[in-house]
Amino acid sequence: MAKRDLYEVLGVARDCGDDELKKAYRKLAMKLHPDRNPGDHQAEESFKEVSAAYEVLSDAQKREIYNRFGHEGLERGSGGGGGAGGFADIFGDVFSDIFGGNRGGPRRGADLRYSLELTLEQAAFGTTETIRIPTLTSCEPCRGFGTADGKAPRECQTCRGVGQVRVQQGFFVLQQTCPTCRGAGTTIADPCKVCRGAGKTRGEKNLEVKIPAGVDTGDRIRLNGEGEPGDRNAPPGDLYVQVQVKQHELFEREGADLYCTVPVSIVTAALGGELEVPTLTGKAALKIPEATQSGKVFRLRGLGVKPVRGGSVGDLMCNVVIETPVSLTKAQKELLRELGESLAAGGNRHSPRTHSWLDKAKTFLEAHLK
Ligand SMILES: [Zn+2]
Ligand SMILES: [Zn+2]
Repeated sequence: MAKRDLYEVLGVARDCGDDELKKAYRKLAMKLHPDRNPGDHQAEESFKEVSAAYEVLSDAQKREIYNRFGHEGLERGSGGGGGAGGFADIFGDVFSDIFGGNRGGPRRGADLRYSLELTLEQAAFGTTETIRIPTLTSCEPCRGFGTADGKAPRECQTCRGVGQVRVQQGFFVLQQTCPTCRGAGTTIADPCKVCRGAGKTRGEKNLEVKIPAGVDTGDRIRLNGEGEPGDRNAPPGDLYVQVQVKQHELFEREGADLYCTVPVSIVTAALGGELEVPTLTGKAALKIPEATQSGKVFRLRGLGVKPVRGGSVGDLMCNVVIETPVSLTKAQKELLRELGESLAAGGNRHSPRTHSWLDKAKTFLEAHLK
């Protein structure tokens, strides 16, 4: 059968837009749909021709190929245009709202999930990772058709390619998946030896995944069409890359903010000073004021993470912990004792917290131990 010009089939101009194209298709397809023309073989053929034409012209890439190379270009391209899969897919997409869905035909491929471990830095600044995923790939010898000769499978005689049959039950007419082709709309008499008719073979593939800056544990990146291929050239599923951020030895992330614990000597805490603290990109100066207490949190603005969904960059929160000196020499111990005596002589001026705590403890004990 000689193939008609696809624009002519849909009755549109070569430069028509997507909306116009869809409108023309819907109008023709509604007129020619098998449900409205039971037993009319001519209408059914036209319906398929219209659907196949729309499948090509509604896909920017396929339309471009067709415009440049015609039908031949489409046949040479991988997957091919106008196959049984395309037909069934459009049937489902455009008609689900008109005819109540229940699409038959080849099924879309399964979605795949991949768990990707990232360091905090990779998650914060983004990265490109090459991942290896197990996948079902379109069988090469049969070009995904599942047939021994690599040609499109024959239309199912039971359902005439629709994938569904109508069954009379009392007053009702029910739509059921075709028992002969199990919804595929096609049958294979002589299946491909490599894939045994499935049209797919198991394999692995490398995939480059671009991770945007600011992702966090639990974020998912969807890669359209990178899942398993569908039944007999139906569209593939999607791949979901699930981000898992590894624990960092210095930082903990909470939303856009980073937290870190900074040990400070008792001398710096008492006299004040400046420390160098690590950040995700390098170092930053942290001013410790005089009389800083353990547990005090200092905020370094803008040194956190830029959230992937937008918003301002978070802060780096430095939690100060005073380190009690260890491994003291005799002389050092002596100095500390001297210091202790000097502080004690000053009364509660040097340790107001201890004194207020002691007061509370005393009141409490007096009240309860009478
Ligand atoms: Zn069938
Ligand atoms: Zn095969």
